[in-house]
Parts: sequence; structure tokens; C-alpha cells
Amino acid sequence: MSHTDAPLLQVTGLEKSFGDNHVLRGIDLTVASGQVVCLIGPSGSGKTTVLRCLNGLETPDAGVVSVGEWRHDFETAPTKTQRAALRDASAMVFQHHNLFPHLTVLENVIEGPVHAKRMPRAEAIAEAERLLARVGLAEKRDAYPHELSGGQQQRVGIVRALALAPDLLLFDEPTSALDPELVGEVLQVLKELADEGWTMVIVTHELQFARQVADQVVFFDGGVVVERGAPEDLFRAPAEERTRRFLDRIL
Ligand code: ADP
Repeated sequence: MSHTDAPLLQVTGLEKSFGDNHVLRGIDLTVASGQVVCLIGPSGSGKTTVLRCLNGLETPDAGVVSVGEWRHDFETAPTKTQRAALRDASAMVFQHHNLFPHLTVLENVIEGPVHAKRMPRAEAIAEAERLLARVGLAEKRDAYPHELSGGQQQRVGIVRALALAPDLLLFDEPTSALDPELVGEVLQVLKELADEGWTMVIVTHELQFARQVADQVVFFDGGVVVERGAPEDLFRAPAEERTRRFLDRIL
């Protein structure tokens, strides 16, 4: 894997509450360029909320986030322009692909580049076709989402994120809504992206997958990072009791 040590993403002291529910209690996260980081932990521990804060879908109450050149201390509320810049730095793939049902595969993929990024339509189409071919879906360009399997829909969801040419890819349990026999094809695409050097933060319950692709695994519980490390260390010899209990339940 080719990555440099320069952090592409740096998060310090991230805090977020929903009403009385203090969901993130000071999260630190450093992701080097080209690294794959998997966030694991029990349901409700705050993993998705971290991704949503990184993609500008939620505004943190406190903390500093830097992605590439973009940096903001959330002690002050970001302006609209700052929020847009944060949103543009990453692209998120959701648990459910969220494709527009009335648009074809190709139209779904070019929607972001053409409308949000103002890319010329012909250029967006050429890039979309290239990316669809890469995930084995070239011949589906004119199909509608309901004509595709769940795994194919999710691969289109990934292509839609890639088409935005973000610095950082965020995946929120990308396989958890899929039938078991469709999980493999989506994980294969993620592995290929990792090999190509994309910087990715992946919330996942697929620990076997995390073990294979992650440079760093971060274990969350109760809105804090309990433990982090290389997968071979964290899975084989977790230092914390809470991590051990979680892994015993899942593995
Ligand atoms: P995980 O991804 O680890 O399952 P989440 O980040 O989805 O955890 O959720 C953490 C906590 O935040 C949960 O208690 C959840 O109910 C709460 N939460 C998440 N999003 C919202 C929201 N938009 N409004 C209110 N509560 C939320």
C-alpha cells in the first residue's frame, strides 16, 4: 500500500450532543493519506455520527477537524462556505445506496459532478463510464436502480462517490443492508480502492474485512475511542477489556 505519513484527516476533541444525549465525547482521529481506517464498536457508540460530522451532515459542538487544506475549530460555527468546503473534501457512501429511483445509473452518477461541481456534461459522462466499467457495471449505464441487484446498486453508490473526486471516502456500513451473498462483491470493490491508494474511513461490522484491508482499526464505545491499533494487534491481543468483550461477541 502506498501512503505517505502526512495526515489527510485530523480530528481532535470532537464533541456532539443530541439534546441530553452526549454522543461524541472527545474523539481524536488521524488518518494518513492513502490509509484505510475501520471504525468498529457496538451500535449506538457514535461511529456514524463521526462520519456525518466529517461530511458536514452534522455540525460538531466542539473539536477541530482538518481535511487536507481545510481546517476548522468548531468552537465557532462554520459559515455556509466553510460547510460547503468540508462537504466537498469527502464523499460518503451510505448503508442504503440512496440512488434516485427515477434516474438511470449514468444520470445518478453524473448528477453530483454536473450539478454540484459544474463539470461539463460530456466530461462527467466520460468519467462516469470509466468508473462504471471499473466496477464491472459498464453495461448497466442505462438501467434504473430497481433493475439492479442490491450489490450492483451499492457499487453504483460507490461510483457516485468516486465521481466527485473527493480527497476522502467515507463508508457507513456499506454492506449491512445487503443479502449475505451480495456482500463479497461490494467488499471486493472496497479492497480494490484501498489498493489504489484511496484514503478511506469505513464504519463496518465486517471484522474479517477490517482485518484484511485496514491500516488502523479504531474501537468505539460510548462516544469515546477505547482503543486503536493495527488490525493484527487489536484483534489478536486487545489491550482493553471492553474491546475484548466486543470482539468475543462478534468473532
Ligand atoms: P453507531 O453508528 O455507532 O451505531 P450513531 O452515531 O448512529 O452510532 O448513534 C449514536 C447515538 O446518537 C445514538 O444514541 C443515536 O440514537 C443518536 N443519534 C444519532 N443521530 C441522531 C440525530 N440526528 N438525532 C438524535 N439522536 C441521534
